Amino acid sequence: MEESGAARPGFFRRVTTPAPIHDLAVIGAGPAGAAAAYHAARAGLRVALLDRAEFPRDKICGDGLTGRAVQELRRLELEEAVRRRGARIDRFDLRAPLGRVAALLQDAGSPGYAYVLPRRQLDAMLVERAVEAGATLLTPCEVRGWEDAGTALRLSVETPAGVTAVSARQVILATGAHSGLALRMRLLKRKPRSMVAIRQYVAAPGGPGDTWHLHFSPATLPGYGWIFPTGDGGANVGVGLEHRRGSVSLPELLRQYLHSREARRLLGDAAPRSAARSFPLRCDFLASPLIAPRILIAGEAAGLVNPLTGEGIDYALESGRLAAEHAVRIVAGESGAAAAYAASLHDHYARLFAFSERLRGWCGNPWGVSALALGAMARPRLKNRLVGILLGDAPVPERADVARLARALWQG
Ligand SMILES: Cc1cc2nc3c(=O)[nH]c(=O)nc-3n(C[C@H](O)[C@H](O)[C@H](O)COP(=O)(O)OP(=O)(O)OC[C@H]3O[C@@H](n4cnc5c(N)ncnc54)[C@H](O)[C@@H]3O)c2cc1C
Repeated sequence: MEESGAARPGFFRRVTTPAPIHDLAVIGAGPAGAAAAYHAARAGLRVALLDRAEFPRDKICGDGLTGRAVQELRRLELEEAVRRRGARIDRFDLRAPLGRVAALLQDAGSPGYAYVLPRRQLDAMLVERAVEAGATLLTPCEVRGWEDAGTALRLSVETPAGVTAVSARQVILATGAHSGLALRMRLLKRKPRSMVAIRQYVAAPGGPGDTWHLHFSPATLPGYGWIFPTGDGGANVGVGLEHRRGSVSLPELLRQYLHSREARRLLGDAAPRSAARSFPLRCDFLASPLIAPRILIAGEAAGLVNPLTGEGIDYALESGRLAAEHAVRIVAGESGAAAAYAASLHDHYARLFAFSERLRGWCGNPWGVSALALGAMARPRLKNRLVGILLGDAPVPERADVARLARALWQG
């Protein structure tokens, strides 16, 4: 028994006739998977989009959409809908123990603004776009594994009605930070290196306006805190860090941050609107597998989360599109298209991730991040370039390294 036919969010249709082999099965309907399904369906592939969750669903996230994400939302014809529902961001404000980097996004690169939109809304909109483009949505469907079926992969899929199979010539794996399936199928040899972050929605009477606030402060170091306005009188607040800080639990770290001077200045008492919840972030792109036989890996499943800022929606949308473009070439029989996909991900991200990892090293201690902030304050041109790179709006220059950047910040 296999599935077939069009599906709507939250609707899994079982039929008794054998389903066709799909050209493409996309596992995971977050930003990477939904974007991949949209672009592949638009290009004429028969696409199945599977997720173990039903939509709309929450995803623990800061909900920040960088300028780079905005460019992708335009390709999906979704920017207008995001603008109507989300908060527009025009400023960036990073505070270190000594010094501060305040910038107008319009000075930091294209397109010069960003948004915040809760993932519950964003992801449902993306999935809807993929279905409108012709993809078949199958939820709740957890992919448990797959086997080679000659000309296709046969996915073993768990649904509320039992275990079934979905077959496809090509697969895009877009399962985010959930690494269980990739580990089980030996795509990953060991548990990948992760950061971890905690998020809570709070009331923000009177603030924090149109600004993204990042704090590398005594309350958060070696991690960072963020306060992003959600545009509805509230804010998304969180703390992210590479490793748990000593014996302090993440909820305790968030509590300390909410009581810090910088958070209280922006939020006052910050009455909670949701429970605080934590989640891992995979930022190991430089070590992650990107392809396997009949499989392209996209988004956070390929480790595409910025090791400094923790953002990854933009890279998820981009890599989902790139995966779709290469899946079209593979299905058309072009040899070498899978390797070309891996090469294109390297072209897009290797330099940025190497640079951000080194910068992360500096920003994890009070002196490093203060030195960068003080230098940036004194050199507006370099400050804007730095903010542009951080938010993905400006390219990382060739041979960029952090020591050179720090020297430039200090010497002009
Ligand atoms: C606390 C926190 C704050 C963050 N803040 C930001 C931010 O402000 N801006 C930003 O750009 N990024 C942020 N990120 C990162 C961002 O959330 C991720 O990079 C992004 O969600 C990756 O998208 P994705 O599509 O690759 O994966 P996901 O969005 O995680 O989607 C993966 C999907 O796969 C499904 N799935 C998993 N396993 C299976 C399976 N076996 N079968 C079927 N379906 C499966 C899941 O249900 C899920 O829907 C943050 C992350 C965290 C944890």
